[in-house]
Amino acid sequence: MNTFDLARVRADFPILSERIHGKRLAYLDNAATTHKPAAVLAAMDDYYRHANANVHRAVHELAARATAAYERARDRIAAWLNAAREEIVFTRGATDAINLVARGFLAPRLQAGDEVLLTAMEHHSNIVPWQLVGAKTVAAPLDEHGALDFDAWRAMLNPRTRLVAVCHVSNTLGTVNPIAQMIEHAHARNIPVLVDGAQALAHTRIDVRALGADFYVASAHKCYGPTGFGFLYARREHLETMQPRDGGGDMIRSVAFEGSTWNDVPYKFEAGTPNMAGAIGTAAALDYLDSLGIDNVAAHEHALLDYATERMRTVPGLHLVGTAPQKSGILSFVMDRAHPQDIGSILDMAGVAIRTGHHCTMPLMQRLGLVATARASLALYNGRDDIDQLVDALHTVNRLLA
Ligand code: PMP
Repeated sequence: MNTFDLARVRADFPILSERIHGKRLAYLDNAATTHKPAAVLAAMDDYYRHANANVHRAVHELAARATAAYERARDRIAAWLNAAREEIVFTRGATDAINLVARGFLAPRLQAGDEVLLTAMEHHSNIVPWQLVGAKTVAAPLDEHGALDFDAWRAMLNPRTRLVAVCHVSNTLGTVNPIAQMIEHAHARNIPVLVDGAQALAHTRIDVRALGADFYVASAHKCYGPTGFGFLYARREHLETMQPRDGGGDMIRSVAFEGSTWNDVPYKFEAGTPNMAGAIGTAAALDYLDSLGIDNVAAHEHALLDYATERMRTVPGLHLVGTAPQKSGILSFVMDRAHPQDIGSILDMAGVAIRTGHHCTMPLMQRLGLVATARASLALYNGRDDIDQLVDALHTVNRLLA
């Protein structure tokens, strides 16, 4: 049974009909950011046309509409993750959410020599925030396929480990980490776990309660929503003990020159006028994903990953970087004859959008002995025609640089 009507799905994304250098667009840079369906654009447009006002403040009708739509977004995200609404803190994105945990949770608990246990495949935004608050960052090794060496990781848990932080899906390798097992092992030693879900939210079902994650973060723009918006899920008991990072309007209960008190969670972490349109667009993106069914999306993307892997392996001199058995739709590669930058430029001329560079994973690149890779990454609107266009263009790379 065909549960996924690709032509219908594509019609929902206006940008996909753009011509690029006179060619059909094959957009394969979805790990960087995804496109937005018309439903998301309409929800944000509708908000500005019919409900624009500041939230949580005035009593007038527009403020009531804005507040209701904004808070519905919290319910939507909470339901998506199987969390309680009080456990969802709105942020500017995954990076902002990790920084909030570093400053509000880790920093007050940190003593000299304390460690955050990472993996070698982490994004800079899951490395640098811990270093900024003075933690020692240590990273577990990967095997030759780019999968986590689980036994080595487990052996690195020690009494100095203050936090485990791990990506659900690697943005460079596509590796899906065994986060449920990792959480179980860390919790057996009373170590809290942060999961960076930036590359997972759009591609797989997430149940933070079943996982037992202490913290789960993601960005809306990688999940068919707007830029500048994301969330921190945190177990309520953690939010209650965390320090606010930013001061300002809305995050307070009372303010006096002698001292101030904080609002309830999650509002004590949301200082200032928030990104209302961002929240509303994100809710619309999750509604859209729900209308397709996240399990259908995952099945479609997995089948396409298998097809892409098989086809790319036929390109002479091409080597896939990241071949873990548990993998999401991210295909990093290098080619014998071409620098990733040249690959990216030649592909662009063929209408194929991919990413080249270190993908904000410099320590991983160093361990792999590479400076850069080319990376094709899949989304729900991609099909075999995109992969065929990519592979044709890769043959052109070989021809041009022979
Ligand atoms: N973690 C991972 C694994 C990512 O891929 C990214 C984005 N490339 C981030 C974190 C940061 O997300 P953002 O830039 O949206 O804050």
